[in-house]
Amino acid sequence: MQAAVVRAFGEPLVLEDRPDPEPGPGQIRIRVEASGLCHTDIHAAHGDWPVKPQPPFVPGHEGVGIVDKLGPGTAGISLGQRVAVPWLGRACGSCEHCLSGWETLCEQQVNTGYSTDGGHAQKSLAWARFAQPVPDGIDPREAAPLTCAGVTTYKAVKVAGVRPAQLVAVSGIGGLGHLAVQYAKIAGATVAAVDVTDDKLALARELGADLLIDARKDDVAAVLKAHGGAHAAIALAVDESAFAAAYAGLRRGGKLVMVALPAGGTVQLPIFDTVLNGTSVIGSIVGTRQDLAEVFQLHAAGRTRVIYETRPLSSVNESIADVLRGEITARVVLEP
Ligand code: NAD
Ligand code: ZN
Ligand code: ZN
Repeated sequence: MQAAVVRAFGEPLVLEDRPDPEPGPGQIRIRVEASGLCHTDIHAAHGDWPVKPQPPFVPGHEGVGIVDKLGPGTAGISLGQRVAVPWLGRACGSCEHCLSGWETLCEQQVNTGYSTDGGHAQKSLAWARFAQPVPDGIDPREAAPLTCAGVTTYKAVKVAGVRPAQLVAVSGIGGLGHLAVQYAKIAGATVAAVDVTDDKLALARELGADLLIDARKDDVAAVLKAHGGAHAAIALAVDESAFAAAYAGLRRGGKLVMVALPAGGTVQLPIFDTVLNGTSVIGSIVGTRQDLAEVFQLHAAGRTRVIYETRPLSSVNESIADVLRGEITARVVLEP
């Protein structure tokens, strides 16, 4: 089988021919139909974060495909079934986080496309208990971006506690942001979309955003404040300054939900304002299996749109370059 492999940080990925991986206990193998290219794959390939993957590895945590082999102990999953393989490859199932519905915080977790090989390949392994069945009627190319971009922003909207009549700023209308706009609308909010490209702002409008803010020329915080300030701002842009602007555009009692992970990113927060304004700053990491099930349910019901373009696996390096240039609206889905 072919796989796109990170052999060294910062180097182009290499397309390798490898033997098909063999599922171990509790694992299944899928024949990958579609594998979304998340900006996280780029961070992984560049070794951007303090906790690094170990090259060589295969990135990709939006892999969707058909189960073609079962390891021992995989009751509940059948051959021929379509599943999605998310970032949360597995968790321990017995720590305080796993037991309290926060499996995404499990310290024993294994991450697909990071600490175990991921979906940018023709065949990929998954743990049966964490592979998410894709409902009939959902196109695998649409299921793929939902598997990370969808579940992550759905969770971020939940964590922000968005209620109808609130103003929610979505900063960064890329793979994640184009879905965040839709989940915030579903929650009933008025949505302000912030980006730095015309295409993405136009897309946000098409997907229901009420207010468009062009961070190249508008003062993001001032525009939000002119509308009373955001009840919540969801930071999805890979740019520290966008976090600071989102924070500054909150109203009293507002919440900044940090999702994007720019390399070495830090934000300086004024303690006085944060205290006096009762501001919350919350980190949000992907979502649980239940969150992903809900994301698929909403999509199957026709309530979300996934904007993507398909490309062959061999385009992975060119696709990464296009994402970094801001030229992709909104997700590249690789077809291995
Ligand atoms: P993307 O490249 O598709 O989207 C980023 C968007 O931000 C683009 O539309 C870009 O034009 C826009 N942007 C750039 N500068 C901006 C600015 N100053 N203000 C407003 N918008 C700006 O990336 P993505 O795949 O959507 O991922 C976004 C980030 O989220 C990455 O850092 C990724 O690693 C991270 N991520 C986090 C989680 C999590 O669980 N916390 C999950 C998935 C991805
Ligand atoms: Zn991702
Ligand atoms: Zn655990």
